[in-house]
Amino acid sequence: MTEPTTPLMQQYHSIKRQHPRALLLFRLGDFYELFYEDAVVAARQLQITLTSRNRERGQAVPMCGVPYHAAESYIARLIRAGHKVAICEQMEDPSRTKKLVRREVIRVLTPGTATDSPLLETRENHFLASIARNGSGKPIGLAFVDFSTGEFRATEFGGPAAEARLQDELAILRPREILVAQQAATLFPEPNRPAAVGLNGLGAAETQLEPWVFEAAHSERILTEHLRVATLDGFGLAGHEQAIAAAGGLLHYLRETAAISAPEATGGNGTAAMQMRPAGRGLEHLDHIVFYQQQDALVLDHVTVRNLELVQPVPGDEPSATLLFALDRTATGMGARLLRSWILRPSIERDEIEARLDAVAELKSAVVARDEAGRELGKIFDLERLTSRVTLGTATPRDLLALRRSLSTVPAMRGILVRCKTARIVSLHSQLDELEDVRELIARAIADEPPALPTEPGILRRGFNAELDELRDLSKSSKQTIAMMEERERKRTGIASLKIRFNSVFGYYIEISKANQHLAPADYTRKQTLVNAERFTSPELKDYERKVLEADERIIEIERRLYREVRETIAAQASRLRQTAAAIAQIDVLANFATLAAERNYSRPIFSEFECGHADNAAGRGDLFIAGGRHPVIENLLEQRGERFVPNDVYLDDRQQPILLITGPNMGGKSTYLRQAALIVVMAQIGCFVPANEARLPLIDRIFTRIGASDNLARGRSTFLVEMSEVAAILNTASSSSLVLLDEVGRGTATFDGLSIAWAVIEHLHQNARPRTLFATHYHELTELAQLLPGVKNVHVSVREAGSEIVFLRRVEPGAADKSYGIEVARLAGLPAPVIARAREVLAEHEKSEHQLTQELSPGAGAPPEPVMFAPVNQEVLDALRRADLDNLKPLEALNLLAALKKQLS
Ligand code: ADP
Ligand code: MG
Repeated sequence: MTEPTTPLMQQYHSIKRQHPRALLLFRLGDFYELFYEDAVVAARQLQITLTSRNRERGQAVPMCGVPYHAAESYIARLIRAGHKVAICEQMEDPSRTKKLVRREVIRVLTPGTATDSPLLETRENHFLASIARNGSGKPIGLAFVDFSTGEFRATEFGGPAAEARLQDELAILRPREILVAQQAATLFPEPNRPAAVGLNGLGAAETQLEPWVFEAAHSERILTEHLRVATLDGFGLAGHEQAIAAAGGLLHYLRETAAISAPEATGGNGTAAMQMRPAGRGLEHLDHIVFYQQQDALVLDHVTVRNLELVQPVPGDEPSATLLFALDRTATGMGARLLRSWILRPSIERDEIEARLDAVAELKSAVVARDEAGRELGKIFDLERLTSRVTLGTATPRDLLALRRSLSTVPAMRGILVRCKTARIVSLHSQLDELEDVRELIARAIADEPPALPTEPGILRRGFNAELDELRDLSKSSKQTIAMMEERERKRTGIASLKIRFNSVFGYYIEISKANQHLAPADYTRKQTLVNAERFTSPELKDYERKVLEADERIIEIERRLYREVRETIAAQASRLRQTAAAIAQIDVLANFATLAAERNYSRPIFSEFECGHADNAAGRGDLFIAGGRHPVIENLLEQRGERFVPNDVYLDDRQQPILLITGPNMGGKSTYLRQAALIVVMAQIGCFVPANEARLPLIDRIFTRIGASDNLARGRSTFLVEMSEVAAILNTASSSSLVLLDEVGRGTATFDGLSIAWAVIEHLHQNARPRTLFATHYHELTELAQLLPGVKNVHVSVREAGSEIVFLRRVEPGAADKSYGIEVARLAGLPAPVIARAREVLAEHEKSEHQLTQELSPGAGAPPEPVMFAPVNQEVLDALRRADLDNLKPLEALNLLAALKKQLS
């Protein structure tokens, strides 16, 4: 690297050294410039031109820039791509100094700490996560924060599956940025190394911190200090050293980046595109932390979250394929975020679920109240994030207006809810704070149409402050005063063309043309000489000028001070605001559920008596019975096409019938049937009514979903290995209160391997944990298990022949599917009769050997014999077949090819 020569570049380097891992946006006049590697990275990311600056010692410095007034969208793009951005401002007005302008980094923006709306997805949380892996048998600590809402939580994962459980949790949280301890090798990044760590497999930016940051003692100190407590026990963190370590590391990082102190005044032209944060501010809104454990909720591992398409479609599917999409009709961003988090963490607390269901039932029948509440909800802005911006000191005057408008719905909302009687709504009603004081303050203080930025004049309403009003009057009346003064001076001097004017360099002046110069009175002093005119000032004008300029400065000063006071007064009420925001979010979601229940004919699930994990479960945890169940997502999609979803029943219990084997042809509806059961369980446990005529359910502690490899080829890893490791996780962790979906498991390998594995898996589940299991399979042989194991029952998806057509009835019926069905379909499709006949022969042949196989697999028998396979196939023939372009082959060529292949074989 070349040594910087110019003072400007020296300044750049000294600032860059403090922010080695961020892209430094260096304000130069009307541009933010980036240099060196930062420039290369940014130019590529933003598709802007890379240029170079003064060759320093013969070496060009790569450079690119973005105009400051458009910086916001560029910065947003960098952040979204996983970069950190340090914004370096000019701290003085360049036109007022001849020296090098003072520059400082006023904010560091990172993917995990954004609070500005262009960077935030309204309906999703933006989490910054922190992972403490202190090794040697200790649990893994995880902490995360949504900086824009103040949510701050921590947990721990112990035991042999700790890493897998952590990955499950991360997949659910989908953090934008993850903090981990740095590997020794990269402890000292090059000063100009770009920020680009890029996005990891989870789509998160990974930020490495020095390992000591995660040390327990340091973490505990930083947390107790920040939360102003003597001990962390009150937050449930007692004894959870690694959770504390992760949380402390996170706070440490926030202190370094997000909480950068920023002097408030930089003059009107020094304003960053993103809001600045006043000195010493930044983390107050993280005023508490919650310790939780994964198993406190229905556990959904990341494979299941993906397979069930709970919040994200699998690649290739429409966004509308998710449960979230099907259920989300919330009116507010807060409600949408809460719904999403409920779906990913359904409850296992009966009281909590029933309380929600009671409220939904009540809102469902209270049609008018629901309607009115919906109208009010529609007027509410993102109270949660507005509150955070207020406490962070970044709220604009317009944010305050949005806050007031949102709060002004609260009295009406309370008026609506006061008519409700269920415990949950009564409690939400009491949590809604009308915040009269805050609304009144904003109404009194903020002008009707304030400027966008808190640094511009005109924020405060007339009547809020007497001194301010006076000064504004003075400033406003200046025109009039000048006009009067001009008139008077014209008379006094007898110069009709005398003018009094203002410019920003010379201030106020009296202008007299050259011809009239000699008439200038003695009290005029010369200021400036032009070609045709002479400019003067007078003691009176000077005095006046001072007053006006002082007034303008005072106006800015007073407005800033008062605005900050207003904001701080509101910030002091943050906990009331947050409580109200949380209540509104929940009202939004419950009203949403009620609307769904009413419009889609959903019914209230009934939970069986026993809590999951209870000792008396042995007596029977009750059935899982769904009558007339539908798939909430597919039902919607079909409805849009004017088609009807065929409802189906599911029955599983923990004694007689824990396992259902579902057979039937491709496209028959097997996978749909499986998923629909799981989605109904999820919906029920978040307190939503379900798409069924009747649903009697146990409380489920975990849902597992595995899908055979070939149904999921897009994943492109060693699919069979992945499939088996996923199955292993089920066998190791499923409990009798779990729901297990296995869809074509075993498909990813050779037939007999797959069949044998599927067979053994079912046996294992049946003999051990006996979780309620739905197993869809094309291995017809498995249906024999129903005769061998009392807990296994067969069902099949039915089809009907109508002339030459196959009709999928989509009805699930008792018993195994008709095996010869596939050949029937082939016949109907017009395969020549001899082929069909031969197929039947081969089938019969196979059935014989398979019968043998299943007998071998039956309990008591030894290991299955190595099955007889076809003779090894000639590779060259196969290759030739693969290469053949059948679309363009003429009949004769085809025959020739066939002959050639045959010859090759013999
Ligand atoms: P399989 O797993 O047996 O191959 P799927 O469950 O993938 O079959 O179903 C295939 C298609 O059939 C689905 O995409 C859906 O559109 C339709 N389908 C499935 N079940 C039903 C049903 N109960 N009612 C109406 N259509 C259904
Ligand atoms: Mg399927």
